[in-house]
Amino acid sequence: MRSEVTVPLADIGRARRAAVPQPQHDVPASGSLRDRLHRPLTDLRISVTDRCNFRCSYCMPKEVFGKDHPYLPHDALLSFEEITRLARLFTLHGVRKIRLTGGEPLLRKNLEVLVGQLAPLRTADGAPLDLTLTTNGSLLARKARALKAAGLDRVTVSLDGLDDAVFRRMNDVDFPVADVLAGIEAARAAGLGPIKVNMVVKRGTNEQEILPMARHFRANYGGGVVLRFIEYMDVGATNGWRMDDVVPSAEVVQRIAAEFPLVPLEASAPGETAQRWAYADGGGEIGVISSVTQAFCHECSRARLSTEGRLYLCLFASSGHDLRPLLRGDERQGVAPASDAQIASAIGHIWQGRSDRYSELRAGRADDAAQAGPAVRRVEMSYIGG
Ligand code: SF4
Repeated sequence: MRSEVTVPLADIGRARRAAVPQPQHDVPASGSLRDRLHRPLTDLRISVTDRCNFRCSYCMPKEVFGKDHPYLPHDALLSFEEITRLARLFTLHGVRKIRLTGGEPLLRKNLEVLVGQLAPLRTADGAPLDLTLTTNGSLLARKARALKAAGLDRVTVSLDGLDDAVFRRMNDVDFPVADVLAGIEAARAAGLGPIKVNMVVKRGTNEQEILPMARHFRANYGGGVVLRFIEYMDVGATNGWRMDDVVPSAEVVQRIAAEFPLVPLEASAPGETAQRWAYADGGGEIGVISSVTQAFCHECSRARLSTEGRLYLCLFASSGHDLRPLLRGDERQGVAPASDAQIASAIGHIWQGRSDRYSELRAGRADDAAQAGPAVRRVEMSYIGG
């Protein structure tokens, strides 16, 4: 029996807003910032919209995000120029990778313009950024070429099954799997690679798709697409998460290895969320992302920026730091917008104070309710991106 969570409609998704603390001292942009657990800041996820055209039950259940859901008004969203300015300031602190997310990022009009503004940015040591995007693939076939031309490096596509009926049930808007596969093909043809495909596995819903997905991406992409299986997570406050619905990654690996022997691979970069496995016969690789059964908070170097400029330090956070007043100032209060140095210092200060490790703490809690932690309202994944 799903547990119903009642959240005031207007506040769905948007956790509490914390004012940005006035730093006692400047935090210089050294390119090597560390938080309280000595974790660097190397990965920035930017949500460019809170809208999505799917209603995946583990993220944006239809019964909560109905047709009258009050999305953010356009003037509340950060402009492309504001996003680019913040991204540039984050690179001064060590960010090397930027991932555009949502909601569904391709619903944001002219997204390639933003990509074109971000692509020239450089890391603190002058290297090009790794500029990527996570999408449900519904609009990818139309957009792939323009995104590549604008400077996007690669894409991650969410796809929770190959069976059309299963997939339509999971996206809950009757969207056909063939169109997402066409999007993946268009991304490959446009050179947006290596392509990653993420499948959220939920027991009793789509675990029967694990092997068909593995067979399909092995057979059709000659290793050019990396399939990753994500453990179903207690993100947000609306998906009715239960531990019983989690298929541990160890079980996923076992199922695949029974048909295709696997060998473990090293992480391709520090802080990588996926554990990598190669097909022993050279047929490519898969990954598993095990936030529930094998937490990886000790290496988490990710920050998340919401579409209206709130900085979240963890996917399971219940509050974010509002950077927008720094960007825009407040004419009525006679507050001028902050300088680059002031904003960079504020970001540094916020990160230095970070000690988030939700998944590790969850692992230490006993049963479902305890696992789900105290009833704080966590921010919705659709609001800050996965
Ligand atoms: S739970 Fe939070 S701190 Fe841990 S890995 Fe996920 S985002 Fe990072």
